Amino acid sequence: MHQKPDGDAMGAALGLYHFLKSIGNKVTVISPTNWAKFLNWMPGCNMVVDYELNTSHCNDLLDKADMLFCLDFNSMHRTKKMETVLLGAKCVKVLIDHHEQPAEEHFDYGESDIAKSSTCEMIYDFIVQSPYADKLNLDMAACLYTGMMTDTGSFRFSITSANTHKAVAHLKELGLQHSIIHENMYDNFLENRLRFIGNALLYRLEVLYEYNTALMVIPKRDLMKYEISTGDTEGLVNYLLTIEGIKLGALLIDRVEERKWSFRSKNDFDVNVLARNHFEGGGHKNAAGGRSSESLEDNIIRFKEVIKLYENQLT
Ligand code: 5GP
Ligand code: MN
Repeated sequence: MHQKPDGDAMGAALGLYHFLKSIGNKVTVISPTNWAKFLNWMPGCNMVVDYELNTSHCNDLLDKADMLFCLDFNSMHRTKKMETVLLGAKCVKVLIDHHEQPAEEHFDYGESDIAKSSTCEMIYDFIVQSPYADKLNLDMAACLYTGMMTDTGSFRFSITSANTHKAVAHLKELGLQHSIIHENMYDNFLENRLRFIGNALLYRLEVLYEYNTALMVIPKRDLMKYEISTGDTEGLVNYLLTIEGIKLGALLIDRVEERKWSFRSKNDFDVNVLARNHFEGGGHKNAAGGRSSESLEDNIIRFKEVIKLYENQLT
C-alpha cells in the first residue's frame, strides 16, 4: 500500500491478505509508514507491519518473498522509504490499482483500471472471478467495503458504478454490517479535530472567485496547537468544493518533512494533470495530491501563478 494509507489502501491490502491466507499462502502486509487510528478496527490491522519501525525485518521478508502485490498506488515513489528496496526486489511484482498513468516498468503483471471506484472493488472482482470465490467471508467483506465507501465519498462520486453497488449488494448478502463501518471510520475522532476544522474554515480559507478556486493553507502551528495526527486532515479538502461555483479546491499542509498538497475538482477540470505538471504528484482526474520541499509561502505564490495557466478551464 502507499505511504500514509487511507481506507482503500488498507482495506485492499487486508482484504487480499485474508483471501490469500484462506487459500494457503503465507502473507505479510507492510505499510510504508504509520496510518490513521480510525483504521485500527479493521480485521487484521494489528498484523500490519510499519516499514519505518521495522525496516530490517521488512527487508528480510521482501528478500524471501515469491510475490509482491502493490495496491492502491502505481509508482514505487509512493512508498517513500521503500522505493529503492522495492525497485530492486527480485520477487514477482503485481500491480492492482486505479490511479492514472501507472509506471508500468515497475511491475511484472497487473491490472490498472481508472474506471474502478477503488482498489477494494478491484480486489473484490479478483476474488469473485477466481476459482476460490466461495472463500469470500465477512472479514474480507468489511475490509473491501471500507475502501469502496471511502474512495466514492460514501457512494456519491461519479466513479461509483453499477458494479460497485452490485459488489456492495453481494457483501450485504453475506451479512456485512455497513453502518458500523461508517461509524468506525467517520464518528471516531477526538474533539480537537472538530475544533481544528472550525479554525481552518474560519481563518485558513481563501476563495479566489475569479478562478472558481478555493485555497486552504494549514500552518504548522495549527497542527501543533490542535495536536493533529495522521488521518485527522483527511476529508478537509472536500469542504472547499461545497461552495457554489467552485471547480477547484486546493489544500496545502505544512507537514514536518514536506509541504503536502491535496486537490479536488468538479467535472472536467483534471487535477491529476495539475498535480503531475506542477506539484510532483498525481492521482485521479477529480482527486489528486502532490508535495513540495519549498516553503509554505513559496507554494502559495506558485499556486496562484499556476492557476492563471488554467484560467480557460476554470472560468
Ligand atoms: P489525498 O488528497 O486524499 O491525499 O489524495 C488524493 C488522491 O491522490 C489519492 O488517490 C492519492 O492516492 C493520490 N495522491 C496523493 N498524494 C499523491 C502524490 O504525492 N503523488 C501521487 N502520484 N498521487 C498522490
Ligand atoms: Mn484508492
